Amino acid sequence: MSYIDQNVIRKPGYSFYLVNIDCMPTSDHFNVVMDMEESIEELLPYLAAGFLGCTYIHGTGVINLMDAGHIVAIYPRQITITDLRSIEEGERLCGEYFQKIAEVKATKESIRPVFEKRPSLTVLDILRRLPKTGCGLCGCTTCMAFAAGVFRREIVIASCPPLALEPEKYRDLFNQLRANGYDAP
Ligand code: SF4
Repeated sequence: MSYIDQNVIRKPGYSFYLVNIDCMPTSDHFNVVMDMEESIEELLPYLAAGFLGCTYIHGTGVINLMDAGHIVAIYPRQITITDLRSIEEGERLCGEYFQKIAEVKATKESIRPVFEKRPSLTVLDILRRLPKTGCGLCGCTTCMAFAAGVFRREIVIASCPPLALEPEKYRDLFNQLRANGYDAP
């Protein structure tokens, strides 16, 4: 990992720094690495309970999730978040994750821990719920390409006009996506 800023930014309880994306050294997008002063290992199953669509297998020591297009990995003492555009965005996201951890710590007794969790929605699940006319009105050449774009959070389902004409199917897919951690499907 190459640092873009030798100055680690310190906050009460944690610090963070941005790093260049290894495979794209000239990109103006960065990853952030957040180091926590205290281990949150015992909190991981409680945190996993609150992250829709995350992957967590107890014992692996990591929660993986997608958060508004960022790939997030939560380890006992570190959080990594991909694809940031600025230090301010990194600061905001680190602050939000630290706050979330503090909330889970404070309310742990009322949370049922999760020891295994995998996202249940696949590209094929999305495809299955589309009208599949292959009309191209969404701008994709195939419904499969559209489903893959939705899965990667690059396309919203409202971009499929035939789906909008079928409110029940639309609602079903919308609800499935929301249940799997998509903010604005
Ligand atoms: S608009 Fe909908 S039905 Fe038409 S190709 Fe795109 S995804 Fe398929």
